[in-house]
Amino acid sequence: MQHGPDVEWLASEVQRLVVERLRSDQAPSSEPSFGELSERIGATITADGIGLDAALRLWTEEISRAALPVDHPRFLAFIPGAPTDAAIVFDALVTASSIYGGSWLEASGCVYAENQVLRWLADLAGLPTTAGGCFVQGGTAGNISALIAARHSALERRNGVRPERWVAAITDQTHSSVKYAIEQVMDADVLFVPTDNEGRMRRGGLRHAAEKHGADGLFAVVATAGSANLGIVDDLEDIAETCAELGVWMHVDGAYGGAALAAPSTRSLFNGVEHADSFIVDPHKWLFAPYDCCALLYRNPDIGRHAQTQRAAYVEQVLVEGPWNASDYAIHLSRRPRGLPMWFSLAAHGTAAYSAAIEITLAVAQEFAAEVRRRPELQLVAAPTLSVVAFRRSGWNAGDYDRWSNKLRRDGIAFVTPTTVNGEPCARVAIVNPRTTLADLLLVLDSMA
Ligand SMILES: *Cc1c(COP(=O)(O)O)cnc(C)c1O
Repeated sequence: MQHGPDVEWLASEVQRLVVERLRSDQAPSSEPSFGELSERIGATITADGIGLDAALRLWTEEISRAALPVDHPRFLAFIPGAPTDAAIVFDALVTASSIYGGSWLEASGCVYAENQVLRWLADLAGLPTTAGGCFVQGGTAGNISALIAARHSALERRNGVRPERWVAAITDQTHSSVKYAIEQVMDADVLFVPTDNEGRMRRGGLRHAAEKHGADGLFAVVATAGSANLGIVDDLEDIAETCAELGVWMHVDGAYGGAALAAPSTRSLFNGVEHADSFIVDPHKWLFAPYDCCALLYRNPDIGRHAQTQRAAYVEQVLVEGPWNASDYAIHLSRRPRGLPMWFSLAAHGTAAYSAAIEITLAVAQEFAAEVRRRPELQLVAAPTLSVVAFRRSGWNAGDYDRWSNKLRRDGIAFVTPTTVNGEPCARVAIVNPRTTLADLLLVLDSMA
């Protein structure tokens, strides 16, 4: 079973399928029901095995077809992804290399390369040269890890004396993963900060909320740098100043929007991020890496390490001082070196290509918004800050948006899902793919006429 004679056949088949997939233009379509899959795939796990050939056939004919391609130029729902060919193919090689990426001892080269990508991101954010962190599975894991470090830091400041309740400040635009981390993972409380008219957290709201609640137990303020629903960027300068006054950890969730740090046209929106105590961005969203990949950075990585290092007799060996053990900086131990696909692609193509690709998506979002303004039956919900555009069709209710969205997908045209803004239903596109053109987006608008 370990190294069968069929490995060459399998590898060449997989290579053929990978290339086929990278060249495929298959649009998102509707998903099969459980009943349909049960009929077509059925039971696959047997005592004797069904064989490589049959298993691979199930993949090509059924399983892979029952998945939506997030990298299709007209996959515009949620936050899509758009990994480069280089990152995807290299990811396959990383997997084939069976590397434990948790420690310097076992994967120093990988950690070294991953850390160069983290350094690029830290430089974009203006974090000090001592900043560092690791790659984790996604924004959810990144946010949880950062908040655990924040609470650890607050507890140290309090000389180990716990408050009655720990509290972290967010807004109603903050991603669900942050509320989940605070309430469900950490059993702490959420302090809602009122936002300005554009949905941004600013000094006034934050001060007001902190004064009303009292700063006791407030261990973090979570700023959003690009909300998933609308691309809103909080006033990071305001928040940084207020956090400094309150002596509270500033975490910046840039899971989606943090990529726009690399775009000169939007960089100033993020002013103040250089003061963050922790920062995350998901390369699997807008930085052209495959799932799953989140970059987590700490201003002072020692705090992250002290909060998260696991100790056990059998891993004493790897707890050497100096070198970087990626496992020490987040809620994980075993990990694949999941920053490597991005490293390979970024090293090969160069940072300028990344900036240019992000600028292209920003420009297309602006052109799309201009087209929405031109059409009398449509209204923009707000001028787009980044590459998410929300818009309304006159006279449509939630049911109309749902029917329209389902039909677009069933017809294999595009995947666009409705959302709500201030309780009102609307349509929304999120553009992270440089291959998405205005023509792709006009197909979506024309379908609303
Ligand atoms: C996507 C997203 C998250 C969650 O990231 P996952 O990678 O899906 O876990 C958190 N915050 C923001 C702003 C996001 O856009």
